[in-house]
Amino acid sequence: MFNPFRYVPIAGVLAIAMAAVCLSAIYRHGVVSMAEEQATHANFAVARVLVNSLGTSSQGILHDATRGPAARPPLGRRNGRLKREVRSLIRGLDITDVKLYTLNGLTVFSSGQSGIGAMVSHPAQFSDARAGHATSIIDLDNQRSLLARIMPEPSRVLSFLPVRSSAFGPVQGVIEVHSTVTGLVRRIDKAQLQVLLTALATLSALYFVVVLLARRANRVVRRQQPDRLSHVNSAHYQIYQDPLTGLPNRASFTAHVRETATRCGRSSRMFCIMLIDLDRFKVVNDSLGHEAGDKLLLEAVVRIRRSVRESDPIFRMGGDEFAVLMDGLERVEDAARLAQRIIDQLGEAVLIGGHEITAGASIGIAIYPKDGKTAEHLIKDADAAMYRAKESGRNRYEFFTKDMNLRAMERLGLETALQRALRNEEFILFYQPRVLLATGKIVGTEALLRWNHPQSGILAPDKFLPVLEESGLIVPVGTWVLRTACLQNAAWQAQGLPPIRVSVNISSRQFRNGSLVRTLSSVLQETGLSPKWLELELTESLLIENTDAAIDMMLQIKDLGVAISLDDFGTGYSSLSYLRQFPVDYLKLDRAFIKDLTASEKDMAITVAISNLARSLKMGLVAEGVEELQHMEFLRHHGCEEAQGFLFSRPVPAEQISSMISEHGYSKGYLHRPN
Ligand code: C2E
Ligand code: MG
Ligand code: MG
Repeated sequence: MFNPFRYVPIAGVLAIAMAAVCLSAIYRHGVVSMAEEQATHANFAVARVLVNSLGTSSQGILHDATRGPAARPPLGRRNGRLKREVRSLIRGLDITDVKLYTLNGLTVFSSGQSGIGAMVSHPAQFSDARAGHATSIIDLDNQRSLLARIMPEPSRVLSFLPVRSSAFGPVQGVIEVHSTVTGLVRRIDKAQLQVLLTALATLSALYFVVVLLARRANRVVRRQQPDRLSHVNSAHYQIYQDPLTGLPNRASFTAHVRETATRCGRSSRMFCIMLIDLDRFKVVNDSLGHEAGDKLLLEAVVRIRRSVRESDPIFRMGGDEFAVLMDGLERVEDAARLAQRIIDQLGEAVLIGGHEITAGASIGIAIYPKDGKTAEHLIKDADAAMYRAKESGRNRYEFFTKDMNLRAMERLGLETALQRALRNEEFILFYQPRVLLATGKIVGTEALLRWNHPQSGILAPDKFLPVLEESGLIVPVGTWVLRTACLQNAAWQAQGLPPIRVSVNISSRQFRNGSLVRTLSSVLQETGLSPKWLELELTESLLIENTDAAIDMMLQIKDLGVAISLDDFGTGYSSLSYLRQFPVDYLKLDRAFIKDLTASEKDMAITVAISNLARSLKMGLVAEGVEELQHMEFLRHHGCEEAQGFLFSRPVPAEQISSMISEHGYSKGYLHRPN
């Protein structure tokens, strides 16, 4: 909205400056005119006195000049005498020069040092005087030049008067009288500055007062505005608001859904609506009365509000039915999770009038755009889903589309099952040996997570790792992996086996969690494993997000004495400039380059290039997923130090690793290689 108050300060300052400058200019003009007038009067008086006193001398000079050759003024004794007479007459006055001109403008007399013989310098004023009119001019221009500022010339008033032999006789010549007004002009300048400053100060003070008053008025108007608006809006309120709960009503809900559908349609985003119906409201209302019913409704609002995000609006659709709009929905299971939270909240008992009441709720969910693209369509679908929830036994939620129920349930079921798995110690670790290619000795193992599912048996991480990540469960599970791997490695060493390094995969959620370094040092302390036998595997994508923080974290890990490797190298960003900055000990070349290694020239070239890169960056290189003998030979030939893969061993339980190390410390695959 246009706010004129925003421009008041600039406009005010400009107006003040302009007004002050104008005032001081007007003042100066007036004062200078007065000074000019006064000086003119004085000059005229002096000129008359001079003409009268000098009488015949001046007339004689003019007479001679008019008669003689025009270009040659009569110089001589008469002129010298006249100069002396004039000087004695003007002594003590502000008169600086007196000049006498013939009717054709030739200077025939000057009380100053020079000028005789020159033509008049102000022809306009001279012409006026020759025509019989006394005239004056103030000469200030000389003050404005740069030279005049360094060597100021006096300000002068130049007056021109006709010279006549008698009061009404013909004009015989023109007398010019210069008087200095320098002192006066300086005083005027000073006074003008004072006027300017005073005007500025006065106007600023006035302006300040006006601004204060305007601000105050603005504040009062703003304060009164909501009152005014509230009156205007009360009609709107009755149409769109529910008076009991203060929530927006059904009409408002439809408008909201319509508006959100338009917005999400433009940005291809999902949102969902939920219709929530209290299961036992009618019983309470009928048996305990309306007042108790109202209390139950108000309590339900409090609990629904507690369950949703602050940005999700709640509506009362009428009776015991509420609605929630969940904007920016990313996963269907998020809607299921919210619905379950609301059901849990409304499933807790409320104390009303000494009675413990459990309202319970059935919820129907419709998702935009899958279930419908218009508000009417979505609301109808959510309603149908809500009735289905009621029919299927109440106190539950239903998606309009049935396979969504399944998906959400599977997902939520998996999350719950994983929580249980952590509690029930269903997770186990498998270890895959890492071999030094030069000797074939096992120098390390990678700890790989498995879920020993009670029904499905051993599950690989691709089945559950994404849910562990999304739900945040990876943080406690990751800590468990770290502790178990360190304990296992310490146990192998305690058995007297040759020491090897154990490497543990770290997920981005764990890395960004902030407590990784703390966990790491406490695990090392707890298990007694020396940090040099531990390595953490990080992926590039995890380090790219906030490089500086990542480097800082890596340095802290290195400070503990723990090694770092860059897992799945070559599949991520592989930015060389980043790589240079990362304090990494090993690059783990991804299986993608190894699996067709000897058949693909490109993969061979990449492998050789990465091997050279690792060497020049002084990092070790480990090849992942080595399954073929010729792949191993190629890698060894091109300077790759270590390898891991089914050729040597699949990931196996800890006991098998101990027997592998105890059998001379060699992996089977290497021992069986043809020489
Ligand atoms: P990764 O860290 O790159 O681990 C190597 C994966 O390659 C393992 O799969 C391993 O079984 C498989 N592998 C090793 N050698 C060969 C081979 O010669 N051929 C083939 N085809 N595959 C081979 P796994 O155990 O299924 O693990 C998959 C991924 O899950 C791991 O990739 C790692 O990123 C992640 N992961 C495993 N355990 C953990 C853990 O405890 N924490 C976290 N955050 N991630 C884990
Ligand atoms: Mg790994
Ligand atoms: Mg890997």
